[in-house]
Amino acid sequence: MSVIYDRVALIGLGLIAGSMAHAMRAYGLAGHVAGYARSAETRDTARRINLCDSIHDSPADAVAGADLVVLAVPVSAMGAVAEQIAPYLKPGATVTDVGSVKRSVIQAVAPHIPDGVHFIPGHPLAGTEHSGPLSGFASLFQNRWWLLTPTPGTDPAALDRLQRLIRGMGANTEDMEAGHHDLVLAVTSHVPHLIAYTMVGVADHLRRVTESEVIKYSAAGFRDFTRIAASDPTMWRDVFLENTDATLDILGRFTEELFVLQRAIRMGDGQHLHDYFTRTRAIRRGIIQAGQDTEAPDFGRSSPAPVSPSAKD
Ligand code: NAP
Repeated sequence: MSVIYDRVALIGLGLIAGSMAHAMRAYGLAGHVAGYARSAETRDTARRINLCDSIHDSPADAVAGADLVVLAVPVSAMGAVAEQIAPYLKPGATVTDVGSVKRSVIQAVAPHIPDGVHFIPGHPLAGTEHSGPLSGFASLFQNRWWLLTPTPGTDPAALDRLQRLIRGMGANTEDMEAGHHDLVLAVTSHVPHLIAYTMVGVADHLRRVTESEVIKYSAAGFRDFTRIAASDPTMWRDVFLENTDATLDILGRFTEELFVLQRAIRMGDGQHLHDYFTRTRAIRRGIIQAGQDTEAPDFGRSSPAPVSPSAKD
């Protein structure tokens, strides 16, 4: 595969940036990958494992001369990081981010982007419950969606180039309006995480159960909740603080549905429960047919062996 950007700068060196570094190297997509993280500890780890071609002690040095700058820090930190790097961005460069919420990131970052630099916000719909510089792997984005939320004024050539990088890392990409992205993600990711956190919290309150049976018998649904509820607390705190409107909207709808199901259980309305579960089962089938999960007993979560993706353009 050919080089798409001569120099890429990764700001933040956790799961997402680390996976990008591995993928870009594995598939030959960048001439040079420069990295920066705020803590000396993370930078030292990144140097030790040779995560990037160069690790810098300042964000200014990392972004100098970069054709693509990727902001891969928590959503609440995006604005401050953009302000820090703005004076050092190369004219004609593209800045993208990988934040899980789009409207608030755009509000925080866009005002700092200088004229002549392209800002194309993005969000890879791929992740694990692990974080930090050791958690990344090249195949994380394989067959996952990576949504971009360009504005109507976005430069088509810059957008096309970023899309080619994303496809080169094995992901599928589509454009979406930022507010719509936040609503879709509230349904598909944000509220499900909140429900998982709540369920594990409920079990935690029932200490009598938690200490023994929950661990011993957690082969079924609860185990999946615990995996999701082990996700990074900083990232998920930010998601709910920054995607407030959409989260509250979906949570309201969820609560209404829950009450309807609660009533059906109380009234012994088996027909209602059966019909409801039949409809939800069809959604699961649709996800498997779309290649976004597997029938495997581990729900396809074990990391697949890295595969070289084929460029689709
Ligand atoms: P991560 O593994 O926890 O890494 C976060 C990185 O950001 C670390 O290098 C950390 O530096 C740095 N950082 C933390 N707080 C910062 C601050 N206040 N200022 C500057 N840098 C800071 O996180 P991640 O999972 O890669 O997530 C990064 C972004 O990707 C987030 O915006 C998240 O919403 C988005 N995202 C995550 C997932 C997922 O499943 N994890 C999926 C899609 C998108 P130190 O190591 O030096 O502390």
